[in-house]
Amino acid sequence: MYPPSIQKLIDLFSKFPTVGPKTASRFVFHLIKIPKEKIEELTAAIEELKSKIKLCPLCFNSFEGEEEHCPICSDKTRDKSLICLVEKEVDLEAIEKTRKFKGLYFVLGGTISGFEKEKEKEKMEERVNKLIERIKGEPAFAKASGEVILAINPTTEGQNTTLWLQRKLKSLEIKITQLGQGLPKGGELEYADEETLSSALESRR
Ligand SMILES: [Zn+2]
Repeated sequence: MYPPSIQKLIDLFSKFPTVGPKTASRFVFHLIKIPKEKIEELTAAIEELKSKIKLCPLCFNSFEGEEEHCPICSDKTRDKSLICLVEKEVDLEAIEKTRKFKGLYFVLGGTISGFEKEKEKEKMEERVNKLIERIKGEPAFAKASGEVILAINPTTEGQNTTLWLQRKLKSLEIKITQLGQGLPKGGELEYADEETLSSALESRR
Protein backbone atom coordinates (compact mmCIF):
# COMPACT_ATOMS: atom_id res chain seq x y z
CA MET A 1 0.00 0.00 0.00
CA TYR A 2 1.23 3.47 -0.91
CA PRO A 3 0.87 6.38 1.49
CA PRO A 4 -2.51 8.13 1.00
CA SER A 5 -1.03 11.23 -0.70
CA ILE A 6 0.67 9.05 -3.32
CA GLN A 7 -2.38 6.82 -3.82
CA LYS A 8 -4.67 9.82 -4.22
CA LEU A 9 -2.61 11.21 -7.10
CA ILE A 10 -2.29 7.78 -8.73
CA ASP A 11 -6.09 7.51 -8.68
CA LEU A 12 -6.41 10.97 -10.24
CA PHE A 13 -3.90 10.28 -13.05
CA SER A 14 -5.52 6.88 -13.72
CA LYS A 15 -8.62 8.75 -14.87
CA PHE A 16 -6.65 10.33 -17.77
CA PRO A 17 -7.20 8.89 -21.26
CA THR A 18 -4.92 5.91 -22.01
CA VAL A 19 -3.28 6.12 -18.55
CA GLY A 20 -3.49 3.00 -16.42
CA PRO A 21 -2.46 2.64 -12.75
CA LYS A 22 1.11 1.65 -13.71
CA THR A 23 1.75 4.73 -15.82
CA ALA A 24 -0.06 6.83 -13.22
CA SER A 25 2.31 5.64 -10.50
CA ARG A 26 5.32 6.45 -12.75
CA PHE A 27 3.98 10.00 -13.07
CA VAL A 28 3.64 10.32 -9.31
CA PHE A 29 7.15 9.03 -8.54
CA HIS A 30 8.50 11.36 -11.21
CA LEU A 31 6.76 14.26 -9.45
CA ILE A 32 8.33 13.23 -6.13
CA LYS A 33 11.78 13.47 -7.72
CA ILE A 34 11.51 16.82 -9.50
CA PRO A 35 12.27 20.20 -7.77
CA LYS A 36 9.49 22.25 -6.16
CA GLU A 37 9.76 25.02 -8.82
CA LYS A 38 8.87 22.50 -11.52
CA ILE A 39 5.79 21.45 -9.55
CA GLU A 40 4.77 25.10 -9.23
CA GLU A 41 5.27 25.59 -12.95
CA LEU A 42 3.05 22.57 -13.63
CA THR A 43 0.23 23.62 -11.30
CA ALA A 44 0.33 27.18 -12.68
CA ALA A 45 0.11 25.81 -16.25
CA ILE A 46 -2.93 23.71 -15.32
CA GLU A 47 -4.63 26.73 -13.68
CA GLU A 48 -3.86 28.85 -16.74
CA LEU A 49 -5.32 26.19 -19.02
CA LYS A 50 -8.61 26.24 -17.16
CA SER A 51 -8.82 30.03 -17.06
CA LYS A 52 -7.75 30.77 -20.65
CA ILE A 53 -9.08 27.97 -22.82
CA LYS A 54 -12.65 28.11 -24.04
CA LEU A 55 -14.74 26.08 -26.46
CA CYS A 56 -15.76 27.54 -29.81
CA PRO A 57 -19.59 27.62 -29.83
CA LEU A 58 -19.61 26.76 -33.56
CA CYS A 59 -17.17 23.88 -33.86
CA PHE A 60 -16.37 22.95 -30.21
CA ASN A 61 -12.64 23.25 -30.81
CA SER A 62 -10.74 24.69 -27.84
CA PHE A 63 -9.00 28.02 -28.29
CA GLU A 64 -7.50 30.96 -26.45
CA GLY A 65 -8.36 34.62 -26.99
CA GLU A 66 -10.98 37.34 -26.66
CA GLU A 67 -12.81 36.50 -29.90
CA GLU A 68 -16.17 34.80 -29.85
CA HIS A 69 -15.17 32.05 -32.28
CA CYS A 70 -11.99 30.02 -32.78
CA PRO A 71 -9.36 31.19 -35.33
CA ILE A 72 -10.49 28.57 -37.88
CA CYS A 73 -14.18 29.54 -37.73
CA SER A 74 -13.20 33.25 -37.80
CA ASP A 75 -10.97 32.81 -40.86
CA LYS A 76 -12.84 34.42 -43.78
CA THR A 77 -10.73 32.57 -46.36
CA ARG A 78 -11.97 29.13 -45.28
CA ASP A 79 -14.61 27.32 -47.28
CA LYS A 80 -17.90 27.48 -45.35
CA SER A 81 -19.55 24.88 -47.59
CA LEU A 82 -17.26 22.15 -46.29
CA ILE A 83 -17.41 20.82 -42.72
CA CYS A 84 -15.10 18.10 -41.51
CA LEU A 85 -16.52 16.25 -38.54
CA VAL A 86 -13.94 14.71 -36.19
CA GLU A 87 -14.07 12.75 -32.96
CA LYS A 88 -11.66 14.91 -31.00
CA GLU A 89 -9.31 17.89 -31.14
CA VAL A 90 -6.18 15.82 -31.85
CA ASP A 91 -7.82 14.54 -35.05
CA LEU A 92 -8.52 18.13 -36.09
CA GLU A 93 -4.85 18.96 -35.49
CA ALA A 94 -3.76 15.97 -37.57
CA ILE A 95 -5.92 17.11 -40.51
CA GLU A 96 -4.78 20.73 -40.17
CA LYS A 97 -1.17 19.57 -40.37
CA THR A 98 -1.76 18.13 -43.85
CA ARG A 99 -2.61 21.69 -45.05
CA LYS A 100 -4.91 20.05 -47.57
CA PHE A 101 -8.20 20.93 -45.93
CA LYS A 102 -9.57 24.45 -46.39
CA GLY A 103 -13.03 24.00 -44.94
CA LEU A 104 -14.32 24.23 -41.37
CA TYR A 105 -14.55 21.65 -38.61
CA PHE A 106 -16.87 20.19 -36.05
CA VAL A 107 -15.59 18.33 -32.98
CA LEU A 108 -18.01 15.63 -31.88
CA GLY A 109 -16.26 15.01 -28.58
CA GLY A 110 -16.35 11.20 -28.52
CA THR A 111 -17.87 8.08 -30.01
CA ILE A 112 -21.21 6.43 -29.31
CA SER A 113 -19.43 3.96 -27.02
CA GLY A 114 -19.73 6.75 -24.46
CA PHE A 115 -23.50 6.29 -24.71
CA GLU A 116 -23.30 3.85 -21.83
CA LYS A 117 -23.14 7.00 -19.77
CA GLU A 118 -26.37 8.96 -20.15
CA LYS A 119 -24.56 12.27 -19.68
CA GLU A 120 -22.12 11.56 -22.52
CA LYS A 121 -25.00 10.65 -24.80
CA GLU A 122 -26.83 13.88 -24.00
CA LYS A 123 -23.70 15.93 -24.66
CA MET A 124 -23.15 14.39 -28.08
CA GLU A 125 -26.81 14.60 -29.07
CA GLU A 126 -26.73 18.26 -28.11
CA ARG A 127 -23.62 18.90 -30.19
CA VAL A 128 -25.03 17.17 -33.25
CA ASN A 129 -28.25 19.16 -32.92
CA LYS A 130 -26.15 22.33 -32.90
CA LEU A 131 -24.40 21.15 -36.06
CA ILE A 132 -27.77 20.57 -37.75
CA GLU A 133 -28.87 24.08 -36.77
CA ARG A 134 -25.58 25.49 -37.99
CA ILE A 135 -25.92 23.79 -41.39
CA LYS A 136 -29.56 24.87 -41.73
CA GLY A 137 -28.57 28.49 -41.09
CA GLU A 138 -25.51 28.48 -43.33
CA PRO A 139 -26.11 30.02 -46.79
CA ALA A 140 -23.16 28.03 -48.20
CA PHE A 141 -25.21 24.88 -47.53
CA ALA A 142 -28.39 26.15 -49.17
CA LYS A 143 -29.88 24.56 -52.31
CA ALA A 144 -28.30 21.12 -51.85
CA SER A 145 -24.75 22.49 -51.91
CA GLY A 146 -22.17 21.90 -49.22
CA GLU A 147 -20.56 18.77 -47.90
CA VAL A 148 -19.98 17.18 -44.51
CA ILE A 149 -16.99 14.84 -44.27
CA LEU A 150 -17.31 12.26 -41.51
CA ALA A 151 -13.62 11.92 -40.58
CA ILE A 152 -14.24 9.50 -37.74
CA ASN A 153 -11.54 7.00 -36.75
CA PRO A 154 -11.87 3.69 -38.66
CA THR A 155 -12.29 1.68 -35.47
CA THR A 156 -15.37 -0.42 -34.71
CA GLU A 157 -16.67 2.27 -32.37
CA GLY A 158 -15.89 4.87 -35.00
CA GLN A 159 -17.78 2.99 -37.70
CA ASN A 160 -20.83 2.68 -35.45
CA THR A 161 -20.57 6.39 -34.73
CA THR A 162 -20.41 7.14 -38.47
CA LEU A 163 -23.64 5.13 -39.00
CA TRP A 164 -25.30 7.00 -36.15
CA LEU A 165 -24.24 10.34 -37.65
CA GLN A 166 -25.44 9.39 -41.12
CA ARG A 167 -28.88 8.67 -39.67
CA LYS A 168 -28.87 11.92 -37.71
CA LEU A 169 -27.86 14.08 -40.68
CA LYS A 170 -29.99 12.31 -43.29
CA SER A 171 -32.90 14.75 -43.13
CA LEU A 172 -30.60 17.62 -44.16
CA GLU A 173 -30.29 16.25 -47.70
CA ILE A 174 -26.67 17.31 -48.04
CA LYS A 175 -23.64 15.51 -49.42
CA ILE A 176 -22.14 13.31 -46.71
CA THR A 177 -18.78 11.68 -47.38
CA GLN A 178 -16.25 9.56 -45.49
CA LEU A 179 -12.48 9.42 -45.65
CA GLY A 180 -11.21 7.22 -48.49
CA GLN A 181 -8.78 4.35 -48.65
CA GLY A 182 -5.38 4.33 -47.04
CA LEU A 183 -6.14 4.62 -43.35
CA PRO A 184 -5.37 1.35 -41.56
CA LYS A 185 -8.50 -0.42 -40.32
CA GLY A 186 -8.80 -0.02 -36.57
CA GLY A 187 -6.25 2.80 -36.66
CA GLU A 188 -6.67 6.33 -35.44
CA LEU A 189 -6.28 9.55 -37.43
CA GLU A 190 -3.91 11.06 -34.92
CA TYR A 191 -1.33 8.33 -35.64
CA ALA A 192 -1.63 8.45 -39.44
CA ASP A 193 1.18 10.20 -41.30
CA GLU A 194 0.39 13.39 -43.23
CA GLU A 195 0.61 11.73 -46.63
CA THR A 196 -1.82 8.92 -45.73
CA LEU A 197 -4.25 11.41 -44.23
CA SER A 198 -3.99 13.73 -47.25
CA SER A 199 -4.79 10.92 -49.68
CA ALA A 200 -7.64 9.64 -47.48
CA LEU A 201 -9.06 13.17 -47.57
CA GLU A 202 -8.64 13.49 -51.33
CA SER A 203 -10.17 10.09 -52.05
CA ARG A 204 -13.22 10.69 -49.82
CA ARG A 205 -16.47 9.31 -51.09
ZN1 LIG B 1 -14.65 27.12 -34.28
